[in-house]
Amino acid sequence: MKAVTILGSTGSIGVSTLDVLSRHRDKFSVYALTANGSVEAMLAQCLEHQPQVAVMLDAQAADTLSQRLRENNCLTQVLAGESALEEVAGSDQTDYVVAAIVGAAGLLPTLAAARAGKRILLANKEALVMSGALFMHEVQQNKATLLPVDSEHNAIWQCMPLGSEHQYDFSDKGVRRIILTASGGPFRDADLASLDEVTPEQAVAHPNWSMGQKISVDSATMMNKGLEVIEAHWLFGLPSDKIEVILHRQSIIHSMVDYDDGSVLAQMGNPDMRTPIANTLAWPQRIDSGVAPLDLVAAGRLDFATADFTRFPCLRLAYQALEAGGTSTAILNAANEVAVAAFLQRQIRFTDIARLIEQVLQTLPAKPADSLEQILADDAAARHLARELVC
Ligand code: NAD
Ligand code: MG
Repeated sequence: MKAVTILGSTGSIGVSTLDVLSRHRDKFSVYALTANGSVEAMLAQCLEHQPQVAVMLDAQAADTLSQRLRENNCLTQVLAGESALEEVAGSDQTDYVVAAIVGAAGLLPTLAAARAGKRILLANKEALVMSGALFMHEVQQNKATLLPVDSEHNAIWQCMPLGSEHQYDFSDKGVRRIILTASGGPFRDADLASLDEVTPEQAVAHPNWSMGQKISVDSATMMNKGLEVIEAHWLFGLPSDKIEVILHRQSIIHSMVDYDDGSVLAQMGNPDMRTPIANTLAWPQRIDSGVAPLDLVAAGRLDFATADFTRFPCLRLAYQALEAGGTSTAILNAANEVAVAAFLQRQIRFTDIARLIEQVLQTLPAKPADSLEQILADDAAARHLARELVC
């Protein structure tokens, strides 16, 4: 029996994880669930899954939750605040930590799980984008096991030679390149001139995947794929020129590994995050995820096309930040979070997202990313500048 903590249990990945766990109550128990402020969603999850602990970031939400749980005779203990997120992520009572908080807010609790040597099921790509070298160092130092939930990275992980549990460098394994597939999001075929007028509702309506708002906008700009290029660099130890992005509109091939001998291994499946979640929960075994069998005849065809930097300038910015190194990727990530939030609040246009990020990257000098303090300082500086540019 493995005890699982889900950081961000009320979100899209969190809900999918609970769905998989509920199919295997003989194998997994829920130790802790955490959320930002959504009391009703957390209450329902606690009543169904009976975790030992529930954490709400917001103190008032924690009070309300606590009261509602008592009314329902539920014994779950309620904690509040950022330090409680780190506490449950590093607790002796949890074996696995699902990192499914969105954005930079996930970094410190996910780092706490790494420092405590947990099996980390990583969805929160922003943590690696911000602090890749430092994060991987903590994982290795503390013998944590880092397994990718992001569908592309999970696909690559499955196509890599089965190394040791703690293998994060595949640079000497005969890998010519890895090929990340991207659906291209809702605007892959849109007239370029029309992108100025895109609304938040159109941007979050992803053609293939159902996801949280921020990652849906990231998919529309393809910053999501850019963040994934950076994530792949840290997870697999490959330089940026060995990480390619290709458009694949059906989202059936989730990514590929191209080996020196000409073999290309691909992982396929329906676009449903329960597959990579079940894969990382059970690894190296396989368990049922609830995902329907892939029907290739119904899918009919698999299309591929080049990812275009003119249509998707955010993808170019992410490659540039990775090549620049240091805190550039933390700056990129912070500016993107502010720009996406401003777009969702209708303060800037869709096409301003890339412009704003580029301006922040050009203005702020990157530093070596060798301490958490430096990374968090540059994250804060980038947010500050990005907010000024919004106004
Ligand atoms: P979401 O917005 O649906 O859920 C986010 C969760 O984090 C919620 O439980 C929310 O309460 C919590 N949260 C938000 N802000 C917080 C804060 N400041 N402090 C503490 N908790 C906070 O997001 P999602 O789509 O589930 O994505 C989560 C992560 O997984 C993201 O990093 C995303 O890039 C990654 N990911 C998601 C998918 C997907 O299909 N949704 C696929 C691959 C990777
Ligand atoms: Mg992905």
